[in-house]
Amino acid sequence: MTTLKRIDVHVEGIVQGVGFRPFVYTLANRLGLAGRVRNDVDGVFIEVEGALSGVEEFLTALERDAPALSEIESVTVVTGEPAGHSGFTIAASDPSGLRRALVSADSTTCDDCLRELADPADRRHRYPFVNCAKCGPRFTIVRGVPYDRLLTTMAGFGMCAACAAEYHDPGSRRFHAQPVCCPACGPRLRLHDARGTELCGDPIIGAATLLRAGRVVAVKGLGGFHLAVPAAHEPAAAALRGRKHREDKPFAIMVADLAQARRLCEVDDVAAELLTSRARPIVVLPRRAGAPVAASVAPGNRDLGLMLPDTPLHHLLLGELAEPMVLTGGNVSDEPIAYEDADALTRLGGIADAFLLHDRAIHVRTDDSVLRPSPAAAAGRTTGGGESAGRATGADVTAVDVTAGMAAGGTIAPVRTVTVLRRARGYAPEPLALRRPAPRPVLACGAELKSTFCLAKGRRAFLSQHLGDLENHETLRSFVEGIDHFCGLFDIRPDVVAHDLHPGYLSTRHALELSGVELVGVQHHHAHIASCLADNGDPGPVLGVAFDGPGHGADGTVWGGEFLRADLTSFERLGHLAAVPMPGGTAATRQPWRMAAAYLRDDHPGLDVVRRNAERWAGALADGDRPGAPTTSSAGSLFDAVAALLGVRDTITYAGQAAIELEQHADPAEPGAYPVTVTTRDLLVMDGAGLVRAAAEDLAGGVDSHVIAGRFHNGVADAIARSCVTLRQATGLSAVALSGSLFQNALLLERTGARLRAAGFRVLTHVRVPPNDGGISLGQAAIAAARDHTRT
Ligand SMILES: [Zn+2]
Ligand SMILES: [Zn+2]
Repeated sequence: MTTLKRIDVHVEGIVQGVGFRPFVYTLANRLGLAGRVRNDVDGVFIEVEGALSGVEEFLTALERDAPALSEIESVTVVTGEPAGHSGFTIAASDPSGLRRALVSADSTTCDDCLRELADPADRRHRYPFVNCAKCGPRFTIVRGVPYDRLLTTMAGFGMCAACAAEYHDPGSRRFHAQPVCCPACGPRLRLHDARGTELCGDPIIGAATLLRAGRVVAVKGLGGFHLAVPAAHEPAAAALRGRKHREDKPFAIMVADLAQARRLCEVDDVAAELLTSRARPIVVLPRRAGAPVAASVAPGNRDLGLMLPDTPLHHLLLGELAEPMVLTGGNVSDEPIAYEDADALTRLGGIADAFLLHDRAIHVRTDDSVLRPSPAAAAGRTTGGGESAGRATGADVTAVDVTAGMAAGGTIAPVRTVTVLRRARGYAPEPLALRRPAPRPVLACGAELKSTFCLAKGRRAFLSQHLGDLENHETLRSFVEGIDHFCGLFDIRPDVVAHDLHPGYLSTRHALELSGVELVGVQHHHAHIASCLADNGDPGPVLGVAFDGPGHGADGTVWGGEFLRADLTSFERLGHLAAVPMPGGTAATRQPWRMAAAYLRDDHPGLDVVRRNAERWAGALADGDRPGAPTTSSAGSLFDAVAALLGVRDTITYAGQAAIELEQHADPAEPGAYPVTVTTRDLLVMDGAGLVRAAAEDLAGGVDSHVIAGRFHNGVADAIARSCVTLRQATGLSAVALSGSLFQNALLLERTGARLRAAGFRVLTHVRVPPNDGGISLGQAAIAAARDHTRT
């Protein structure tokens, strides 16, 4: 006789709303097992009994074959006495106890749904909202928990008999797919003119016709509105740029498939994997020479941001248009993107000639995510790895993260890293794992620009999607409402609230206004390094290199080129970039020529940058020399100075622009490096002025500015590596964490990492969260949690 075995299995993680129960049901039936499955407070609870071999196979397959959208964090198994179940059933769940189950991120249309979309015989043929238990909208339509249709923006759509049958059939791939719908019962697509009047005819064909004629069409996407024009249509792209008041920032391009992507950019295996991942991020890739893209799409940029369609609507539109299209945020200038129909018609009325709308509301505004793989080195092949880490966090990016090391023979193996520039649609709100659980729930309020917040409970850190600049009123509202929404979704009531030390940040003010909580002030650059540690699951201590724009220092001066000894509880400033005057204070952050003046003073009167700004040069120097005037050790300011010196940019239209364009300007093939003096007394000081002087002398001597920019980058990388070697001798620390917005610069990141590895350091770089201020809240949360440990 066969041995009967009964087990109770508790699965935690992202296992609700992802087709997990139908998967379990099918698996149990296939193995001839009896029992039942239901959702519970933490995930999914399964009672299963039958032949021993079947039960063992069940446990193996449970993890091995789990649905693609699920993220299993833990499986707990308890053995019991067989209860005599007949058959396997899906039991009703208790909605009162479902709050802690996790909400998954939005996911691109799956292959099965795409087949239906293209099949003339299918009842969802060309239906722009086709989805199933494996794909479709999630985070952006969820109003509350439990994850159930009534608490999504699909609540108003009653299912037709055919959809209801699929929804209730455990054998259907739409079993309990909350957004299930069809042309008979679901949302409807409409095309409106700029005044809001609905146009007749097929909305997709109508929109594609307008696009081909060079009109700007606003398209309602998963997380908000985009503005579209054909990517090769210069008058349309120029008109869009003018109407959006967006002077320089590149537009992203949506392409139908990898073949179209390859016509525009260099797409290697890493890039292809990122482009086709279920999050469908924008991936920044090297532009092909002669790529058919209008000049106004990404002026002066060697790279293009590409993405593949993330919804059936976008598949249909690109199919009809049959060429790549610009798809940029539906906003004016720096405002948050519109996500509500009425607001879009008002705010985008002066930009779009038509609106492709539908009646499925977006509950949470969520921008496109942006990733940037480091440029492929000639010999650089990926070695895979990181797969399990990727599943644990829900960020596909780690699937292509590659660990570095010394290759045999002592040469440096090329390292491919993927930098997250913006984490939003497709990733939020899936949690990141904390190495040590937070003793009490934490809210971390982040910084000011590229704002995010982070809620931590136990081992889970829920990092919000990118919100934008908090100085914008609409963004501040998203910040405050978003914190409430996340607290509700994940059943968190924070006892500890972390904030930046900058008293003027609106995020800091929000923290200080909360009552009944313990406040934890976190220094900005310590938060950057802690963010990198948390991102890597490393407790420290490390040598932290925080190269960033100007930020509030622990001593009241403006920091931003810092060498720290840091772990998750504390830090010590070991060194910094030599401080220079910051003429005009914050004006210097918007006018890089002022930083050129601060560094060059009157040394090179013949240089173009001095001539261009001759009338205000002396005034800037006087501003900087005024008693009590601010000084800064910011690396961003150093890059600004060199960008202005080389004529790349005297003033900027968005934060970090000069440094970003300086990278684009640099010749990556240039091997030379400017020397930098590094001195040590109490603190290590890296003298940036020497770099600027060398660059100015080369420029005066007629050296090509692209070569100069290359030598500058190499010089900074050399100096960081040499500084770390000095600090290793003093501290014994041989691991370095690189963070701060300057490490969005792929050239700087790659050169610095290579030099540090060559010197024998273990190098930590960001994996899942941005090195820029978008990652600050995670660092604050990790610090607050760690300090709470030491307290108790
Ligand atoms: Zn699907
Ligand atoms: Zn239906």
